[in-house]
Amino acid sequence: MPWQARKEKKIHTGRRNSFSVHGRGPELSISSVVSVSRCPIRYALGKKEKNPESWRYTLTKQLSLHLGEELDAKTVWEEACLVNDNPDPSQKPFLSEMVRLCGGKNDWRAATATDVPVRSGSYGIHGTVDRIFENEPYFAIVRSSTAPAHGVYTADRLRVTGYTICLREMLGDHVKGGTIEYLPSGASRLVIVEPRDKRRFLQALSETRRIDEGGLPRRPFRPPCSHCPYEGDCEDTEGTRLSELL
Ligand code: SF4
Repeated sequence: MPWQARKEKKIHTGRRNSFSVHGRGPELSISSVVSVSRCPIRYALGKKEKNPESWRYTLTKQLSLHLGEELDAKTVWEEACLVNDNPDPSQKPFLSEMVRLCGGKNDWRAATATDVPVRSGSYGIHGTVDRIFENEPYFAIVRSSTAPAHGVYTADRLRVTGYTICLREMLGDHVKGGTIEYLPSGASRLVIVEPRDKRRFLQALSETRRIDEGGLPRRPFRPPCSHCPYEGDCEDTEGTRLSELL
């Protein structure tokens, strides 16, 4: 199947944002929508922060570029040092273990393209797909976290949904889903997008737009507060304190 995007229906504003043809507002990144699905408050509080790329992510991402060929930890480490100026030697065992786990699995596919920008003009979303393939499943998202015991994490399911929406618009309806590659576990998990995934994605998309337009974020039913850097900063979701923080 040729890697050829369909003609995109968008109106460029001349600035960073472009607007969907249906007037739904500025384009949103898929990662923003996923972040809102976890906790809208955390998304709103973190919007102004720009965190540097973690060394663990740099190593994982660099290793992913070699999947489908013989893996060599030394080569990956040297390339990662070129990519990220802040190497963390304490992560060498992490890389060695990842190479061991992934190297023992012979069915990794070599990508036909990596870091491919994708978008949906219809839904006003965009993102970057880590690995694209000629055959089903047509794309993979690389994660630097370990895999869950079964399947994929809820947020990763939503990620695949967002990219599938974009790729269906760009390539056709034969794109049904993609894989999540949890390289620290040497695991590749397939996600076929279901109607409930699309409903969840559309709800999170709508909430992201509402927050970006100035609406106060709502506390989720079961917020994932453990290890959240904002614990304690978001207690008052009803009133002044949160709006001042934002
Ligand atoms: S502490 Fe909990 S409710 Fe507050 S921002 Fe973090 S995840 Fe959300």
